[in-house]
Amino acid sequence: MTTATMTASDMKVTIGPTKLLINNEWVSAASGKTFDTINPATGEVITSLAEADRADVDKAVKAARAAFEPTSKWRKMSGTRRGALLHKLADLIEQNAEGLARLETLDNGKPFNDSLKADVPLTVACYRYYAGWADKIHGKTIPVNGPYFCYTRHEPVGVCGQIIPWNFPMLMQAWKLGPALACGCTVILKPAEQTPLTALRVGELIVEAGFPPGVVNILPGYGPTAGAAIANHLEIDKVAFTGSTEVGKLVMEAAAKSNLKRVTLELGGKSPNIVFADADLDAAIEGAHFALFFNQGQCCCAGSRLFVEERCYDEFVARSVERAKKRKVGDPFSSGVEQGPQVDQEQFNKVMSYIEAGKKEGAKLAVGGNRVGNRGYFIEPTVFADVKDDMKIAQEEIFGPVMSIIKFKDLNDVIERANRTIYGLAAAVWTRDISKAHAIANGVRAGTVWVNCYDVFDAAAPFGGYKMSGIGRELGEYGLANYTEVKTVTVKL
Ligand code: NAP
Ligand code: MG
Repeated sequence: MTTATMTASDMKVTIGPTKLLINNEWVSAASGKTFDTINPATGEVITSLAEADRADVDKAVKAARAAFEPTSKWRKMSGTRRGALLHKLADLIEQNAEGLARLETLDNGKPFNDSLKADVPLTVACYRYYAGWADKIHGKTIPVNGPYFCYTRHEPVGVCGQIIPWNFPMLMQAWKLGPALACGCTVILKPAEQTPLTALRVGELIVEAGFPPGVVNILPGYGPTAGAAIANHLEIDKVAFTGSTEVGKLVMEAAAKSNLKRVTLELGGKSPNIVFADADLDAAIEGAHFALFFNQGQCCCAGSRLFVEERCYDEFVARSVERAKKRKVGDPFSSGVEQGPQVDQEQFNKVMSYIEAGKKEGAKLAVGGNRVGNRGYFIEPTVFADVKDDMKIAQEEIFGPVMSIIKFKDLNDVIERANRTIYGLAAAVWTRDISKAHAIANGVRAGTVWVNCYDVFDAAAPFGGYKMSGIGRELGEYGLANYTEVKTVTVKL
């Protein structure tokens, strides 16, 4: 195992494990293959890692199945004890907050301040929240007709495959592992190829916390190989996926064609963020800026269709442009930096091509649009005004620092237009009028609606999508439902 360190800016970063975690052991890939993960701020290789493929997935599934046998240590463990292990893991992550935040920033490019103040505490909170559920997962007694006693048991669904993206690597790992482990499942988790490092470091803490062998297996590798092997596997009972809608469909298809494993999907979005002229404009401008630019614009729920009422449109655009100009882009380890690089060359190219599309389709480029510097994948905070509903930049997920501001006339007009998308992940409304706020909250087809705020997340509050933004909910009590099977037991009296 590597204990290599490297220096990024002047911060020392400990790299942590670079092998596969299977059955609580660090192993090379069966093929012996490795792949590189890079630092998106420089484009340089950080380290190479074992690259999992089908044979490694098979091996991990064997370990996870053994750990799920009815007589296994894990299956015989009480909910209270499972909760204690999750609490221990949360404590260890908290104790290692600084190191984990550095590693996350090195591998992903997000500002260190965000890694430390957002990603790590939300991760810790998620594990603690589900630790609290572990001994509270139970069925009901049901008064059926006749001389029978009927009750339900909420049993763990089994061996779970979990495939996560690169935008919030550590947090997405927690959203997946927290409920699965609280319910008593076992897991094979594949981090994104761009950002495998914190997943493995957390794996090390999982072993240290005392989870039995085979309960959590972590396999970095590529989507079409290791990811597809998980989605297709006959001995995996459930797959949970977060990422693009395109790949989400492949995962669901693979699940259907293999063994009808249960599927939950958290996919893309093109979330309407609606500003009425009666809103507190200072708060709305700052809120809309945050809603779009946070995390380099790489958020599934980014407020990427910004609808602004015509009465305040010109002022709103002018002030949003001023705010975007002030956004500090640069070395994610430097203090005061609000925006780091995009995660890799591919995402950089994709975002730049959307900026070209916006210009070509006649949106008004009000600020930005260019690369920053000549190494790494930095892009200027970019604002398009006069965006029309059917433009590519108003319909497709850009996943970058590109704001599209669209004009609307009134409440009825905007609800219909806000819903004119294949997605339905999130929405927001800014207004001082409580009736308008509720009209939007009720009328928009999205899994989350924020009123006079944005990106407010809590481990207790469910999150997920309508329409092509996904299936199922993560977080909160609803998040547990994906990790249990309900068994009905009827006893003749
Ligand atoms: P992606 O391909 O959907 O990747 C998400 C995860 O799925 C990664 O772990 C990926 O592995 C894996 N994967 C890829 N192909 C697979 C397959 N055939 N079977 C099983 N798993 C597979 O996303 P991306 O290419 O990184 O980003 C593309 C776009 O997706 C972004 O521009 C953005 O629009 C959207 N996205 C959305 C979210 C979200 O939070 N909803 C997050 C990230 C990206 P690899 O790491 O090898 O690719
Ligand atoms: Mg990387």
